[in-house]
Amino acid sequence: MIIRLAILPLLLALNLSMCKKQESASPKPQAASPSPAIAEAAAGSSPITAASPAKISKPVVDQTAQTIIFCYHRLVDKVRYPGTEITPAAFEAQMQQLKDAGITVISMQDLLAWKRGEKNIPPRCAVITFDDGWKSQYDVAWPMLKKFGYPVTMFIYTEGVRGGSLGGGEAITWEQLADMRDNGVDIQAHSATHQDLREGHNIMLVSGGKRTRTKLTGPQYEEWVQNEVVGSKQLLEQRLGIKVNCFAVPFGSYNEHVKEIARNAGYEAMFTVYGQPITFTSATDSLGRYAIEASKPKVFADAVKMIGTSTAGGTAVAEVGAADLSTQPADGDTVRTALPLIKANVKGLGQIEPGSVQLRVSGLGVVPASYDPKTGTVSYQVTQKLRDRSCTVILTAKSEGKKVEAHWTFGIEEGAAGAAAPTAPTPKK
Ligand SMILES: [Zn+2]
Repeated sequence: MIIRLAILPLLLALNLSMCKKQESASPKPQAASPSPAIAEAAAGSSPITAASPAKISKPVVDQTAQTIIFCYHRLVDKVRYPGTEITPAAFEAQMQQLKDAGITVISMQDLLAWKRGEKNIPPRCAVITFDDGWKSQYDVAWPMLKKFGYPVTMFIYTEGVRGGSLGGGEAITWEQLADMRDNGVDIQAHSATHQDLREGHNIMLVSGGKRTRTKLTGPQYEEWVQNEVVGSKQLLEQRLGIKVNCFAVPFGSYNEHVKEIARNAGYEAMFTVYGQPITFTSATDSLGRYAIEASKPKVFADAVKMIGTSTAGGTAVAEVGAADLSTQPADGDTVRTALPLIKANVKGLGQIEPGSVQLRVSGLGVVPASYDPKTGTVSYQVTQKLRDRSCTVILTAKSEGKKVEAHWTFGIEEGAAGAAAPTAPTPKK
């Protein structure tokens, strides 16, 4: 936590100075670049509410799974801006490390489906995203990602696309984006002109090749910010014939008003650069991504460690079916109490190292379960009401030097779940 807080101001400073492609590309003002029509942008979007929490009618998903989201910018052989660049070799090595650490790379849409309670994801996974729309993302990163079979999400600011008013020679083109779209790449929004979206902040207005530095307030600001948040979405959707449901906030600078505009425009999720593991309950309007930069080689390793802690030293984990452990409640069962007795029998797993048995319960974390080596019974009586309508249990243990792990999920009948009273996680022993 302390480390992360220390990194944040630096991250912001670096992003502010280096996140714009026109700064390193030779400025070639383009005449007559169509800017998204503001009037159109404001109309035609039907407001929908933000993603609602999982409902019981949906399939039961593993609520204890965790994801880390990586944010990359530019891949270059010679790093000149370490705040946003890394070498292709470093990128490739990181992709390999994910594989070696047993972290599955999933698509952003799978992550969101999991958050909606519609789809399961592996217990530990990662999402790869690229910001801004650099040519090297198409030329260098994408072929590598294809080699690994990893899905990717591109966050594009529309005026930065080559041919737009801010798109220099190093920018990706609409044709390249269309090629990526045709091959399953997820393309999402990152504003129109990549600036601080909060009212009253310094911005640059570009019109007909002329740039003016200014501060907008009131109706002028509202019109501008609509185009940044809503207009950019509509332009991507119209140019590429896609559905855009994610918004990466430039520099992570936004506020409740910007969030509201985004929600009303139909964005399901919003992203910042404040890296953190994403859990089932993480707020979808502020999902933190780890920004990977040449100047901070530890960020990647730390992020991997954040979700990789349960595999000690990278040892393989053998998945065990919950049915083999005669669990109680059984996988898929529904119980009538929010205070269930959780039990499993690990006798069938061979010689268990007594101190190695660990039980995690969604919403509670690690619980002080008891283990009886004679009978092989692991049990824990839940003492604070489970709040969610489904509960996932993860049991891990060491058997003959190998780590074994079992997951199971049961439902809690409506009315039994312990209302909204916030519960503190059970302290670790
Ligand atoms: Zn950016």
